[in-house]
Amino acid sequence: MNVKNNLEQINTQIETSSEKGHTSTLPNVIAVTKYVTIDRANDAYDAGIRHFGENRIEGFQEKKDALPSDAIMHFIGSLQTRKVKEVINDIDYFHALDRLKLAKEINKRADHQVKCFVQVNVSGEASKQGVSLSEVNGFIEALKDFENIEVIGLMTMAPLTEDESYIKDLFQLLKSKRDEIKALNLNYAPCTELSMGMSNDFHIAAEVGATFVRIGTKLVGKEE
Ligand SMILES: *Cc1c(COP(=O)(O)O)cnc(C)c1O
Repeated sequence: MNVKNNLEQINTQIETSSEKGHTSTLPNVIAVTKYVTIDRANDAYDAGIRHFGENRIEGFQEKKDALPSDAIMHFIGSLQTRKVKEVINDIDYFHALDRLKLAKEINKRADHQVKCFVQVNVSGEASKQGVSLSEVNGFIEALKDFENIEVIGLMTMAPLTEDESYIKDLFQLLKSKRDEIKALNLNYAPCTELSMGMSNDFHIAAEVGATFVRIGTKLVGKEE
């Protein structure tokens, strides 16, 4: 496992895919370190990564404490309402806003405006978190009075499937929804960002125009 080599390969694939999709910017790569040790997270930092993602509070705090202070910390997993106060002010980007009760708690506990992605269940799979595509507008509308929440974009997880054209369709649906919300010019929901693409599908996400891809296994590996 050599994180630097992995990152070079990933960057090459991202460039190729972005060119293919004629996208204007390359996505930021978030190293998802939830399966790996602090040492491996530091390898990613040394390779030049500055965005880090964790989906549990314990792992999040552990990596945040260990990494240099300019590491940008993304919380990418679902967060229980009663745990919000433990972690919300350490989070730079929260990727899993999907219910009003959680938004209320974040708004109450945050000491600043938190950059949030609304998580969308584009495929409609029962096992997936997130609001449905048809609920996005209403959900975002309901966030307008929460001064500590800034909706900076939409996030999704694609289903596990080999069918790349299906995944591409889902990513394009999310992108269209992002464009639609962005065009509303809401000051609390600029919605310029798109968080989508993981180890198996980041190339598709880059082609469609993701601004953040979240990569664990193919970048830093999986130790468990
Ligand atoms: C684990 C995880 C990832 C990274 O998964 P890999 O397939 O290992 O790249 C990305 N996003 C979320 C929300 C995750 O939980």
